[in-house]
Amino acid sequence: MFLNRFDPAEALARARHVFGEFGGINPSIEESTTFTVLDASKLADIFGGKIGPDEDCYLYGRHINPTVLALGRMLAAMENTEAAYPVSSGMASIFTVVAGLCGKNEHIVSSNTVYGGTFALFERLLPRLSGITTSWVDITNLEAVEAAFTKNTKMLFVETLSNPTLVVADLPRLAEIAHRHGVKLVVDNTFTPLLVTPALYGADIVLHSLTKFVNGTSHVIAGVICCNRDLLQQLMDPQSGPLMLTGPTMDPRVAFDIYQALSTLPIRMAAHGRHALVFALRLLDIGIPVVYPGLRTHPNFSVFEKIRNTRFGAGGMLYTDLKEADLAEQFLNILQRVGFGYIAVSLGYHDTLMSCSASSTSSELSDDDLEHAGISRGLIRISMGYTGSADLRWAQFMEALDGFLRSQNKERLGVVFGERYDSLRLAVEQHKRRNLGFSA
Ligand SMILES: *Cc1c(COP(=O)(O)O)cnc(C)c1O
Repeated sequence: MFLNRFDPAEALARARHVFGEFGGINPSIEESTTFTVLDASKLADIFGGKIGPDEDCYLYGRHINPTVLALGRMLAAMENTEAAYPVSSGMASIFTVVAGLCGKNEHIVSSNTVYGGTFALFERLLPRLSGITTSWVDITNLEAVEAAFTKNTKMLFVETLSNPTLVVADLPRLAEIAHRHGVKLVVDNTFTPLLVTPALYGADIVLHSLTKFVNGTSHVIAGVICCNRDLLQQLMDPQSGPLMLTGPTMDPRVAFDIYQALSTLPIRMAAHGRHALVFALRLLDIGIPVVYPGLRTHPNFSVFEKIRNTRFGAGGMLYTDLKEADLAEQFLNILQRVGFGYIAVSLGYHDTLMSCSASSTSSELSDDDLEHAGISRGLIRISMGYTGSADLRWAQFMEALDGFLRSQNKERLGVVFGERYDSLRLAVEQHKRRNLGFSA
């Protein structure tokens, strides 16, 4: 449908490579917070914005650091935006964008299914600080989106693939609506780096929690804001910009780690996607409820196909729903015991991470809010890792399923699996027979 020739992995490979101070093949980590000038008059030019990093002139570590800038250039290339500014966390990127776009008593239209921290920021902190209010809408209902705009609306906020419900944003149509109202489309692309390039479809600002897939080893907290040069300049302005004045600065050592991690991101995303697709297909096959955007059974499958850069798969995120919190928790305990994955929040790690969203990363939402966002108490979010093999992970899953089915009476599980309970038992038995038990 869209003639999409942009390839983010090629863009990363073409981006300016930064050599170390002594010609090292890796960039140096610039550990200084302040920078000398040869002539005192230069300071005025730097603070006045007349000269800057493009002329190799730096102001102060909180403004921009050379190692952080090197990472920013890579991320801008990846997201096909003019500029990008790495920050200390995903939440810092969201707060900075709001502080840059919205003023007192202004208004945000947001998807009703977003990361719990984003929800709490928009719903509780922003109104208290500034009177900024948010209307929560189902973004798959374009009339509802349209109807939510007021004369004070300054941004439309969505996640490309929502946390944890995996609703896909129809970015071209949402951009059209936002722009018709003179409003910026802000897209949190944390779940889908490389898979989707929101700027191709009209997103004005693309942000990430780099903590997740982009870094990929769950050892640093980080974020990024990708946008055009004018807007970034506004955010960085030494006298009035929220980047300079609220200080969500990234440490250069963190920037170096993420810069290195970018080299393997295309391989990692494809590997997450391969494992997740095999797993989702097998769940579907035996009759476990599964939501994964790479399956035709996903309600937004065609929207995802329309915007996806197909070379990198359909991502590592999927979920199943056991309806009730205590059932979900028991199943998680067994899955962890057999070595299938770890019970932990966050995502994009090389091993599988699993959590009950309602009681963890979406715990900021009340029962009503959870229902409104379509988050069941028994929803188990899975960030599929790529370690081991698909067959090993499946054998571990079937062992856990066997234990889970044995731990509950049939009436209880009937609520979750309905008619499929008997066929699930059969699938477990067949798996055991074929593999001569679980430890073969
Ligand atoms: C984790 C997450 C955030 C927040 O990022 P941090 O790096 O933890 O501050 C924002 N959006 C989404 C979709 C996330 O998953």
